[in-house]
Amino acid sequence: MQHPPVVNAMTIDVEDYYHVSVFDGVIPRSDWARLECRVLDNTSRLLDLFGEFGVRATFFVLGWVAERHPSLVARIASAGHEVASHGYGHRLVYDQTPAAFREDVRKAKTILENAAQAPVLGYRAPSYSIVPQSLWALDVLIEEGYAYDSSIFPIRHDRYGIPVSGRHPYLIERSSGRIIEAPASTTRLGPLNLPVAGGGYFRLLPYQWTKWGITRVNQREQKPAIFYLHPWEIDPQQPRLPCGLLSRVRHYRNLGQTEARLRTLLADFAWGPMKAVLPSFEERPQLAGANAALPYLW
Ligand SMILES: [Zn+2]
Repeated sequence: MQHPPVVNAMTIDVEDYYHVSVFDGVIPRSDWARLECRVLDNTSRLLDLFGEFGVRATFFVLGWVAERHPSLVARIASAGHEVASHGYGHRLVYDQTPAAFREDVRKAKTILENAAQAPVLGYRAPSYSIVPQSLWALDVLIEEGYAYDSSIFPIRHDRYGIPVSGRHPYLIERSSGRIIEAPASTTRLGPLNLPVAGGGYFRLLPYQWTKWGITRVNQREQKPAIFYLHPWEIDPQQPRLPCGLLSRVRHYRNLGQTEARLRTLLADFAWGPMKAVLPSFEERPQLAGANAALPYLW
């Protein structure tokens, strides 16, 4: 029997090329405001592209960007997309105290809600930096009114990831309340979770990798995929910043091909915002056992 196409989540982390964590310590924060702004044009191109394909997406916007460009946030919202939070200052969660993190996510939520004129319910940490030692961040997010998080990557990576955590959206119960976790997508190959849906993996590996991975998630598991990209990833003209060889490959490779790839991806699969793939809080009975996906919590 033919199944209807699975709707996947298209998500964009709205930040500029110099906000990326690999440039922490290379580009002082005090320089951000005087660097050439490219996030407006790049996000605008993504909005045009989504308009052309009739796709609605979720935009995790950095508060720092929203504060300077509230009209961009308003445009995202008025085009029918979801505005969510990428925090305010792009600091890694595990480098912050809980109090500083609370201030960061609260400030971002206020700025974004004012600009979007809509509630902001979702959060994604810079560089997926909710890891075993920063799980306290989930309590802060719950207390600050966030309903879902998309920061726990179930992979092994040098800077982030909880390899044993759930691969599909699941509910987390904490003493402070509940939050839905919606991880970026992986496919399971033997003992490994391999990232298949976005960012560097989308740019650095052939497109067929992404297509194979999302198809596998949709068809074998009958689950939606969660894909992510940044506006700077479709901008081959962005100024080059100094960084090490590995970072240079991760950040700059194939920038000129990404927009064409994204067009193919938009045509090959069905897409929607995060809410299209999230379980509701009421679905808890079906999610029994999901807690076991994150053993660090219990
Ligand atoms: Zn980011």
